[in-house]
Amino acid sequence: MDTKSLELKAAEMRLATWKMIYQAKTGHTGSDLSCADILVALYHQVLKQTPETFSDPDRDRYIQSKGHAVEILYNVLADRGYFPKSDLVSYSQFNSPYIGHPTNHINGIEMNTGSLGHGLGLSVGIALAGKINHRDYHVYTLMGDGEQAEGSVWEAAMAAGNYHLDNLTAIIDHNRLQISGPTTQVMNSEPLAEKYVAFGFDVVEINGNNMSELVETLSSPNPTKKPRLILADTIKGRGISFAEGKANWHHKVPTEDEFNQGVNELELTIGGLKNE
Ligand SMILES: [Mg+2]
Repeated sequence: MDTKSLELKAAEMRLATWKMIYQAKTGHTGSDLSCADILVALYHQVLKQTPETFSDPDRDRYIQSKGHAVEILYNVLADRGYFPKSDLVSYSQFNSPYIGHPTNHINGIEMNTGSLGHGLGLSVGIALAGKINHRDYHVYTLMGDGEQAEGSVWEAAMAAGNYHLDNLTAIIDHNRLQISGPTTQVMNSEPLAEKYVAFGFDVVEINGNNMSELVETLSSPNPTKKPRLILADTIKGRGISFAEGKANWHHKVPTEDEFNQGVNELELTIGGLKNE
């Protein structure tokens, strides 16, 4: 897909997610909107994986460490055909498998996540297993920046550097906000780039809401013999004006008026991209 088509896809995924959260009256709205472009780039342009090859031992792996942003993941997976879109009407309903964090009961989801600080460690293990077993797959994981306060992240980062896991790409959704406020005020983990360099990573800083930068960086070969860390600068709530950059939208559900305004904004974005 070309960049414009990927941008259109990301806007459509934002709208589907916004509608799903409003219907269910629950969800991590700002967190989903922040990383929509990253997931679309991964699933449409980067990951060597399809619904048909999901059990292939050589498939690329994606571990969503910031599991609370599961609503955007569900929509991207359904859109790619991992399960029917109609399944998602049951999201967060009693007895539905589509619960508020990722579980591997769902086709396309590798690992149960959501308890923060685990995704990088899981990914290090899978990447190391790939090296040991001479497999050619690549492992991608998406973390939050608030998540960097978890000590287990740094234990995993140390192991990734130690084992020179150049088959591992960790991405930080660097929106500088977490549930209770700015990350620098809640628990300052900056400077993240310098810290990951010190732990033995090749660090690349990009605009994580810019589709062409995402695709180019995620697709580029890594000749460094180091794990890669993509520090993706994003805007929490991206795509809906009144949610952008607001910590209280971390898991806020829109009111009816907010919902309608958000739908209008996203439909305008989609219309604009279709007419370009
Ligand atoms: Mg954040």
